[in-house]
Amino acid sequence: MADIIVVGGGAAGMMAAGVAANQGAEVLLLEKNEQLGKKILITGKGRCNLTNNCGIEEIIANFPKNGSFLYSALYTFTNQQLRDFFAELGVPTKVERGGRVFPESDSARDIVAALKRYLEENGVKIKLNTAVAKVLVEEKQVTGVEDRDGNCYLAKRVILTPGGAVYPSTGSSGDGYQMLERIGHTITSIKPSLVPLKVKEEWASEAQGLTLKNVEASLYFNDEMIRTEFGELLFTHFGVSGPIVLTLSRNVVNNLGKGSLKLEIDLKPVLTEQQLDDRVQRDFEQYSRKQFKNSLSDLLPSKLIPIVIELSSIPEDKFVNQITKEERAELVRILKGLTLTIIGTKGLKQAIVTKGGVSTDEIDSSTMESKLISGLYLAGEVVDIDAYTGGFNLQAAFSTGYLSGINSIN
Ligand SMILES: Cc1cc2nc3c(=O)[nH]c(=O)nc-3n(C[C@H](O)[C@H](O)[C@H](O)COP(=O)(O)OP(=O)(O)OC[C@H]3O[C@@H](n4cnc5c(N)ncnc54)[C@H](O)[C@@H]3O)c2cc1C
Repeated sequence: MADIIVVGGGAAGMMAAGVAANQGAEVLLLEKNEQLGKKILITGKGRCNLTNNCGIEEIIANFPKNGSFLYSALYTFTNQQLRDFFAELGVPTKVERGGRVFPESDSARDIVAALKRYLEENGVKIKLNTAVAKVLVEEKQVTGVEDRDGNCYLAKRVILTPGGAVYPSTGSSGDGYQMLERIGHTITSIKPSLVPLKVKEEWASEAQGLTLKNVEASLYFNDEMIRTEFGELLFTHFGVSGPIVLTLSRNVVNNLGKGSLKLEIDLKPVLTEQQLDDRVQRDFEQYSRKQFKNSLSDLLPSKLIPIVIELSSIPEDKFVNQITKEERAELVRILKGLTLTIIGTKGLKQAIVTKGGVSTDEIDSSTMESKLISGLYLAGEVVDIDAYTGGFNLQAAFSTGYLSGINSIN
């Protein structure tokens, strides 16, 4: 019989298992997949943005809900400690734009390999292809777990780290919520977060594959601006995605079905309307003898030219020197506010992180132990915590995993 059973070999589970074993506990790690860390492999587009180099308070501020729940976890195992941890395991890291931290090798595989080495070095027993179905409890004390085939694994401490409900192909398919609800825990509403957006306008799909860098996207709810983000946006066959859209998506999820939601894209955010008008005027002087459709290539990527022409009331074959001041002003308005109507989001399958999970009211934030079942610890995305992009979600998984690991040995 193991001292501690860890359910789920993702970021939180591997950290928890390794840390507990490192402190001398006999640890058994049960993983449903045929391999550990499947989700980590696809993080950061295969490069794994494992944390962010900002201060702890800023990390906390990047969790729109329940950020303060993470104080103990993030101060016990900080972003700097996480970087040192991987450096000691032979995976040095580097900082990129926005404080995003990646392995120097740009390989998420190296992160998984390092964690596996850490488990091995500390003697963690690993059982793959084992889907846990039940947490066993007697008189409010955990006694072990049971897998889908009815096999029981007994232990006085169980750390549950089965992840959330997004990207189920990686193994995290919401199993944890069912297991925990059955033993009395409250699961808050589960929704996709950091998720691409579906839009009404068909022209968005005509631009599919186009990435716009350094644009500003503003989200309007019932015509009131609620959030603005600057950075990279991607057009897809159903709408829009990319870092700034994912960040805005959380506010979309909160307001979906409650009123109108619009996205306004400023293609030239560093220029004021006047500066942009001056710029367009200069282009128009240069291309005065050309048709309108042949005058925009210095200003716009080719995929956007027919779209902007269509959205404006200026005929595409009008000669530039015949375009009126009013028409030019309309063009400037479009470039400063390309508007899309949001009709929904993609589902859990395509989201980056789960919004909702085990209520943080029912977990002791200084240990990650359940307040309802003694000996049961919860860490990672299964808990009702989710952050914006930038490495914060993995840091939370590693920090809560660490905190549960060191506390479970007591
Ligand atoms: C495409 C994508 C890219 C991302 N990129 C980033 C990024 O760059 N930076 C960042 O910070 N975050 C990123 N995230 C989010 C981040 O990956 C997760 O928040 C994080 O992995 C959560 O860690 P976890 O250990 O809680 O869960 P997971 O990593 O999902 O691990 C859970 C593990 O539990 C196992 N499991 C589930 N149910 C059972 C069961 N019943 N029995 C046994 N085992 C079970 C699963 O198979 C899985 O291995 C990304 C997510 C996605 C989908």
